[in-house]
Amino acid sequence: MPNLNNAISDRRRQTRSSIYHYLYQSPDPRSKQDISRDLNLSLPTVYQNITELLDAGLIEYAGSTPSAGGRPAMQLRITPGARCAIGISVTGHRLRFAAADLSREEIAYKDLPHSYNVEDEGYSAFVADTLERFIDESRLKRDRILGVGISVAGIIPPDSSTVLFAPTLYIRNLSLKGLIDAIPYPVLPWNDASSGGFAEWYGGKEARESIAFLSLAEGVGGAVLVNGDQYIGNNYRSGEFGHTCVEPNGLLCSCGKRGCLEAYCSSKRLSTDLGITLAEFFAGLENGNKEYTALWEDFKTHLVIGLHNIRMTLDCDIVLGGYLTGFLKPYLPELKEMLAEADPFDKDCNYLRISRYSKDSSMLGVALTFIRDYLNSI
Ligand SMILES: [Zn+2]
Repeated sequence: MPNLNNAISDRRRQTRSSIYHYLYQSPDPRSKQDISRDLNLSLPTVYQNITELLDAGLIEYAGSTPSAGGRPAMQLRITPGARCAIGISVTGHRLRFAAADLSREEIAYKDLPHSYNVEDEGYSAFVADTLERFIDESRLKRDRILGVGISVAGIIPPDSSTVLFAPTLYIRNLSLKGLIDAIPYPVLPWNDASSGGFAEWYGGKEARESIAFLSLAEGVGGAVLVNGDQYIGNNYRSGEFGHTCVEPNGLLCSCGKRGCLEAYCSSKRLSTDLGITLAEFFAGLENGNKEYTALWEDFKTHLVIGLHNIRMTLDCDIVLGGYLTGFLKPYLPELKEMLAEADPFDKDCNYLRISRYSKDSSMLGVALTFIRDYLNSI
């Protein structure tokens, strides 16, 4: 793809950027005359920049509408597929892929169970091969791929070279160099909950605010986003809500301690621990299964303690994400009610909501970081 930023002045780049982002944010296609009027730019300046953006493949014509002068005005819009980025979620015996385009929408998805362990010798090559297959199956153009993000349920320092600790994958200090080297695109490993939280914050186009993201899957994790920046903490462990205590001396957690939120609200507790799937659990719950009902009450009670602690600490909206939340929507009203009983300040608890994504978004967010950086560079 042509490079847009060959030796032009900052001022010219800013003008072109303002035109691109004007079109990006417009719900409908706009004409050159609209751009000139709304951005207070001369028509020759608009023409010149539009030509450059068209040549770079970043915008396109979208038909025409009649104008007052009789001559139809050509309408312009951004080309969402001009660039894309991919995210890969690495969990035990499962790879999930998602791709996003410049509109920040998910454009492809694949879920692949497998028998490898993350530490197996052939694992990196297996991931790299599967990635290429995903690119072909999704008809993504390789010269448009900005990068590949890898989301891992573990603690990853900012240099992104190592997974320091991933209890649900049973790994400590795992180097990611082999995996990074096997993938022929820019690669960014990121914590899965940070990635899911970023997808929640950055995906779509509506207004954004600070959020706490609580990811409910086999592991329970989280992320704190303050105006779009992740608060990572001094040791990259911010948002580890899964290992806050919700029951002193309670159930044993994967981290080795007792009473953690993860020990009570892992998806495992409602599925593999019972030898069933999550879908079977929730079907049984709806049918009045007594064992499931008692377990669900215990699950909710501890989830609400965790949610209440997050709200009292951070005073921001809380978004529930992760694989388990695909089943939680019908139970959101009762969770809010329980939360309201605990809350000394708010009685409606509308600060609690479920992820905008029907599937797990943990690989989408890290893909969206490439999209964000690219959009900022235009
Ligand atoms: Zn724990």
